[in-house]
Amino acid sequence: MSTFQELGLNNDLLQAITDLGFVKPSEVQEKAIPILLKSETDLVALAQTGTGKTAAFGFPMLEKIDIDSRTTQGLILSPTRELCLQITNEMKQYGKYCKGLNVVAIYGGSSITDQAREVKRGAQIIVATPGRMKDMISRRLVDISKIQYSVLDEADEMLNMGFKEDITDILSHTPEDKNTWLFSATMPREVATIAKKFMNNPQEITVGNKNESTSNVSHEYYLVNARDRYQALKRLSDANPDIFSVIFCRTKRDTQKVAENLIEDGYSAGALHGDLSQNQRDLVMKSFRNQQIQMLVATDVAARGIDVDDITHVINYQLPDEIETYTHRSGRTGRAGKKGVSMVIVSKSEVRKIKSIERIIKKQFEKKDIPDGADICEVQLMSLANKIHNTEINHEIDKHLSSINELFADTDKDELIKKFFSVEFTRFYNYYNKSKNLNIAEGSFDRDSGREGGRGFGGKSDSTRYFINVGGKDGFDWMKLKDFLKEVLELGRDDVFKVEVKDSFSFFNTENEIKEKVLAFFTDYKHDGRFVNVEVSENRGGGGRRDGKRGGGRRDDKRGGGRREDRRSGSGSRSDRRGGGDSYSKSRRSGGDSNSGSDRPRRSDSGSSSGPSRPRRSRR
Ligand code: AMP
Repeated sequence: MSTFQELGLNNDLLQAITDLGFVKPSEVQEKAIPILLKSETDLVALAQTGTGKTAAFGFPMLEKIDIDSRTTQGLILSPTRELCLQITNEMKQYGKYCKGLNVVAIYGGSSITDQAREVKRGAQIIVATPGRMKDMISRRLVDISKIQYSVLDEADEMLNMGFKEDITDILSHTPEDKNTWLFSATMPREVATIAKKFMNNPQEITVGNKNESTSNVSHEYYLVNARDRYQALKRLSDANPDIFSVIFCRTKRDTQKVAENLIEDGYSAGALHGDLSQNQRDLVMKSFRNQQIQMLVATDVAARGIDVDDITHVINYQLPDEIETYTHRSGRTGRAGKKGVSMVIVSKSEVRKIKSIERIIKKQFEKKDIPDGADICEVQLMSLANKIHNTEINHEIDKHLSSINELFADTDKDELIKKFFSVEFTRFYNYYNKSKNLNIAEGSFDRDSGREGGRGFGGKSDSTRYFINVGGKDGFDWMKLKDFLKEVLELGRDDVFKVEVKDSFSFFNTENEIKEKVLAFFTDYKHDGRFVNVEVSENRGGGGRRDGKRGGGRRDDKRGGGRREDRRSGSGSRSDRRGGGDSYSKSRRSGGDSNSGSDRPRRSDSGSSSGPSRPRRSRR
């Protein structure tokens, strides 16, 4: 293992490194720095966030640029504003003894004029998000025609976020002979294509295996019924009293809802997603960094670039659509040499994805049980005991001691301890006493195929079958309908299944836990000018023939569906539907509402905060 000195860094940088308390180079630094210092080369580096990659490209860039010149020589592109600011901040710290150095951050959501003014003062290095950078180039507010070094940081994330064209455009304004250093946690095909297109014979370094998760993170999964997901989340938190975590949800709506429920239930939680204003996001992040928030519930996009070193747990409340995203999620913990745990709460229909993730991260998951009430009570009790044991005495109490002693004159030590602990513990005990076991056995379930032995797919107890009043006549086939539903409902790849398209109506399934969301969405949704009606079908589907001619007959057989049948025939063809739009939509809507009262299930426990609230926990 080399020292920073042996890597060949100059004294200004070495002094800053000492100030920062970096003792030895991390693996990516040890591999990248000598290459970048010694040669003018392109580089592809596969490294996770948290491995010290900013310094791996930052030190060589600072060493190589001419600080006496005011020309912009280095350009670092990063996917998010958060990350852009972090990199800028790190670069400033690394270069704090490089007199005359000016590193400028360019990102959206902040004054473009101020940023342009900063650049004009002479920025040797610009750290930018692609969108704002492109904007500034088109307005001629920056000149990157003399760039010598460009960095594509978190390249996989930038491509995921749809920045490919922006990056191409930006790089077209830079010299052909510059060096490009690409850093990426994963190596999907798109990143390889970018590397091929923009780079000249790049050297490649890999920290760990490609796409592999860091060795500091252990991976666990918990198999529960989809409706128990929220309860499971609460138990995982309660079983880890000092948790400091990011909880990932798939949609903005779920993120907001889970965070609100947690707050209502007494947890110190906050939401981070794209529907919040920049100011709200900044406030949440500030509270999280200060550890005033223990549970940050976030979408993948909003959580990109979160660089907080002490995160103890990442909880996958739902798995991501793209399983590669799991690597990014789990990389939020286990940073800067610390240990972390990445937990996944899965229902039976998702558990097969665990195998695929294991293949990608090249790590085994451990299947664990959601702790039961007694376990949680014990953990909480011992945590409280430790806290009390380690508490510094407040001597303001001394003057009240004689009165307190008088009160407890007849109480022996054991009794006193029990009474004292009961103040806090009883609330947990009452909540968890007689709580049910949330775990479901894998049993005959085959994790590889995702199927339950002996039951048809449509017979799954945790999925709902729906009727929808659009079909082949509306231009849908099963794939188009699936895509349409996924898009309007903001669902993931596997969330809509068992899609069967008929002429003027269709059926599909989702998991029970999103039933309310599906039904609520379609109470008032128009497609091609007419209301789309979705209702729960009592026909579970799936058991019958592939051609859809099932023995059980039509969806509405069991519902005395005369009225609905009329409505459906009224919506059978486009011309029918387009005429009479108003009266049609009115009757449809009132019909839908009156049906919904009796047909739709009452709000389930999942995701709701019904039931006893968790005892309030004090802030850290
Ligand atoms: P990065 O992967 O660049 O986001 O770095 C993750 C964290 O590790 C940051 O807080 C860095 O300041 C820190 N770091 C980077 N290099 C080292 C090092 N050699 N020793 C200790 N900490 C480091």
